[in-house]
Amino acid sequence: MNPANLKDRLEARQGDITGLSVDAIVNAANTSLLGGGGVDGAIHRAAGPELLAECRTLGGCPTGEARLTRGYRLPAGRVIHTVGPVYRGRPEDSRLLASCYACSLTLARDHGLRTLAFPAISCGVYGYPIDEACKIAVDVCAGFLEAHEVPEKVIFMLFSAAHLDVYTRCLTARVG
Ligand code: ADP
Repeated sequence: MNPANLKDRLEARQGDITGLSVDAIVNAANTSLLGGGGVDGAIHRAAGPELLAECRTLGGCPTGEARLTRGYRLPAGRVIHTVGPVYRGRPEDSRLLASCYACSLTLARDHGLRTLAFPAISCGVYGYPIDEACKIAVDVCAGFLEAHEVPEKVIFMLFSAAHLDVYTRCLTARVG
């Protein structure tokens, strides 16, 4: 895969991830998969109660792993639920956050999901510093896209202008 192509396949935008018409959006869930605040709450509100009903059948998800559901009333066809680490400054935090991105990308590839959008996993109530988290997100996604044709496109959907700024700088440094 040539680098110019990689640049077109990774994009940072600002806005609400629940409004995106992509093959799958990623949810920053908790281990119960039964809903919560932040982006998790927004996704469940927009998807409707059928999403919670399907999540109940999954029996939770360990930190660093990911699970796939349908998108129900969302414009996105599927939701990939992943559980980021609560930030405590331990070496395993970065390993677990990288694993969230890798597991989500692998699920998307295995299910032929061509367009995928991520929020800033763990960067809300879980307290991960945005600069460190962003570098992990961009490194893992760029590496995966270099190695695989699916997903074709990854969007980082940031809620704040400050987070968009961090991602834009990091993407420019990694892919130009
Ligand atoms: P975590 O528990 O993994 O930290 P949060 O939901 O608290 O998850 O926050 C993760 C990130 O998602 C934060 O940067 C937050 O600002 C952002 N966020 C919250 N709501 C939305 C939304 N509707 N679309 C995109 N990002 C969102």
